[in-house]
Amino acid sequence: MKPAPFEYLISDSLDEVIEWLSQAGDTAKVLAGGQSLVSAMNFRQVTPSVLIDLNNLTTLSYLQLAADGTLHIGAMTRQRQLELETAVLCPLLYETMPHIGRPQIRNRGTLGGSLAHAAPAAELPAVMVALDAELVARSGRGERQLSARHFFVGPYRTQLAADEILTEIIIPPPHSRTGTAFVEFSRQFSGLAVLGVAVVLALDEDTICRHVRLAYLNAHATTYDASATAQHLMLNEAYTPALLEEVTQTIAYQDLNPLGSLHGTSSYQRHLATVLTRQAFNTAASRSQGAAQ
Ligand SMILES: Cc1cc2nc3c(=O)[nH]c(=O)nc-3n(C[C@H](O)[C@H](O)[C@H](O)COP(=O)(O)OP(=O)(O)OC[C@H]3O[C@@H](n4cnc5c(N)ncnc54)[C@H](O)[C@@H]3O)c2cc1C
Repeated sequence: MKPAPFEYLISDSLDEVIEWLSQAGDTAKVLAGGQSLVSAMNFRQVTPSVLIDLNNLTTLSYLQLAADGTLHIGAMTRQRQLELETAVLCPLLYETMPHIGRPQIRNRGTLGGSLAHAAPAAELPAVMVALDAELVARSGRGERQLSARHFFVGPYRTQLAADEILTEIIIPPPHSRTGTAFVEFSRQFSGLAVLGVAVVLALDEDTICRHVRLAYLNAHATTYDASATAQHLMLNEAYTPALLEEVTQTIAYQDLNPLGSLHGTSSYQRHLATVLTRQAFNTAASRSQGAAQ
């Protein structure tokens, strides 16, 4: 199918893009990598009357490490650039990137596009929740920062207003002795995940848990932040197999609400959550110990 007719606008000025968006409101859509939007338009699931192309906004494509250790990433940064440049800057992102589609998808797809699209099975929303990122949004009304923790409000729904665009993602510096891990299961490598988990964990020299965050993809109707339960059970406790078992079982069987699909029933997804959570925590714990060397 072909998309419904639309007016096409492109500019290298962010101010002009914001102005167009303010005028068009919810009749407009912004185009980033097009890896989700173009097929949705072709299937006429989305029929914007104005399409505003962000691809000339080269000023929104960057990775910058600030002096205080905060990592700033432009919303139009291609997923491929994240894959190539985050090994040292952000190991959790680096570990995640190969799981997203195929190289061709990552060559075009952007970080901002994946977050704004908010697919429940997408990797980057879960990683940004685990990293406790802040998302910067601009509109004609000004700029605001949104916490990734509250950004994903439903399947394919975020806190962004129709006239707002994401401009930057800010990742705070890691706590000392932090280890991270990303694990997912899909029926084929780089295929849609049946379930996945991102963990950020800091253990002190006595293996007492000093910081923990974790988030899931495809374990709920939307990206799921399980950090509150993990923090309640783990903070200031020694990291032991018994503690890990308690956390894993509580989250998989009390917190998560996987919807099930052709690729796995909800009870299979819960079982998967126990296996992947255990694996991710143990990897993050050993990396936390390694970070101290
Ligand atoms: C074959 C295939 C396999 C894929 N596999 C995976 C996968 O395994 N995991 C995964 O996570 N994704 C996967 N994707 C999706 C891919 O990661 C997309 O890149 C991503 O979902 C959207 O990013 P994009 O830059 O292409 O955004 P677009 O498709 O251009 O836009 C998506 C939505 O976000 C909005 N948007 C884009 N940028 C902004 C912005 N800066 N501010 C506000 N709104 C914005 C658009 O208006 C649109 O509504 C796959 C896609 C394909 C085609």
